[in-house]
Amino acid sequence: MSKRSELYGGHVAEILATQRIAVQWTRSADSTAWRHRRCIKVRRVVCPATYAYALHEIGHIIGPYQSEIRFVTEIGAWLYARQEAIYWSRMMTRTCTECLDSYHARYSSILSAKLPVASDSIWQEALDTLGYTPQHQTNGGH
Ligand SMILES: [Zn+2]
Repeated sequence: MSKRSELYGGHVAEILATQRIAVQWTRSADSTAWRHRRCIKVRRVVCPATYAYALHEIGHIIGPYQSEIRFVTEIGAWLYARQEAIYWSRMMTRTCTECLDSYHARYSSILSAKLPVASDSIWQEALDTLGYTPQHQTNGGH
């Protein structure tokens, strides 16, 4: 494991300890957070992507907007990850964008009225801090 990866792992371990968040390590790609139990399930932190996901799941416990609708909780968890990360790469931005796009696509089709709109401050924060704009077109084709 590289020095940088050890740094990521150490940073996540430190947050988990100081915030008293429990962790279940998994080999599966599915990561999860149980906010009220203060527990996350993630892959071990060995690279920028796993670091981003671990911070993201921690963001579901202690990050902003976690009482909002699901899509907004996703934005909040990524805002937490982006702000706490000691290092953030283009790859991590891509990870974040892909994750938000998959939720955005899902929510656009079933809950369009509840998605944040361009004038929302949360949306602006997502645009400014995460560099995120929805890629998914809901009205036909790719
Ligand atoms: Zn999430």
